Amino acid sequence: MRFAPRFTDGRSFDQPLGKIVCVGRNYAEHAKELDNPVPSAPLLFIKPATSAVMLEETIAMPSERGEVHFETELALLIGETLTGASPQAAEAAVVGIGLALDLTRRDVQAQLKEKGHPWEIAKAFDGACPLSSFVAIENAPDWSSLAFSLDIDGERRQTGQTSDMLFQIPTLLAEMSRHFTLEPGDVVLTGTPAGVGPLPPGAELRFILEAGTSHAGLDIKTRVDDAHSR
Ligand code: ZN
Repeated sequence: MRFAPRFTDGRSFDQPLGKIVCVGRNYAEHAKELDNPVPSAPLLFIKPATSAVMLEETIAMPSERGEVHFETELALLIGETLTGASPQAAEAAVVGIGLALDLTRRDVQAQLKEKGHPWEIAKAFDGACPLSSFVAIENAPDWSSLAFSLDIDGERRQTGQTSDMLFQIPTLLAEMSRHFTLEPGDVVLTGTPAGVGPLPPGAELRFILEAGTSHAGLDIKTRVDDAHSR
């Protein structure tokens, strides 16, 4: 079944999910923790729509090919076609803000990086992109005040703020649209802050997005499948 983006007020988006365009190393502290240089242009990759599952539901633990890392990221739902867009036009095309996990088979990725091979089997597999409902953009007008976090079993593990991004959202979207046309129903992941690590089987996860106004935002509690119970 094709994944359908939806809003927190229950409305569904009028297009099915398209591609998910992602950026690596968009927070300096995260680049450092994996011993990667800070890039001078955004490092882009794509997850297909088939990688998406609902973040609000139990997350399957795909542990059969080595360690799977969580990367908590701000997700943007695109509502207009963007090709070679200006930062202003790109920013105006965002219709929703949510959260996602960019699940990564870290052992597999390390082997691929070493050989200079593409990352897809480490990043684009089925279930590799748990995606939340989106806060409609009219409820989150101030990009500069967005903050998000991940708690695992009650312990804060990741915190991110849009102001800490190396490539700010309008610039990032404009750059993406120079390489790939963004279409209504596409989603953009904006990179992970520091604190990534292996996804623990059976863990309770809590995701919080503070979208600037008191009535908006997300507070999602979910859990990771216990691999032993399957
Ligand atoms: Zn990522």
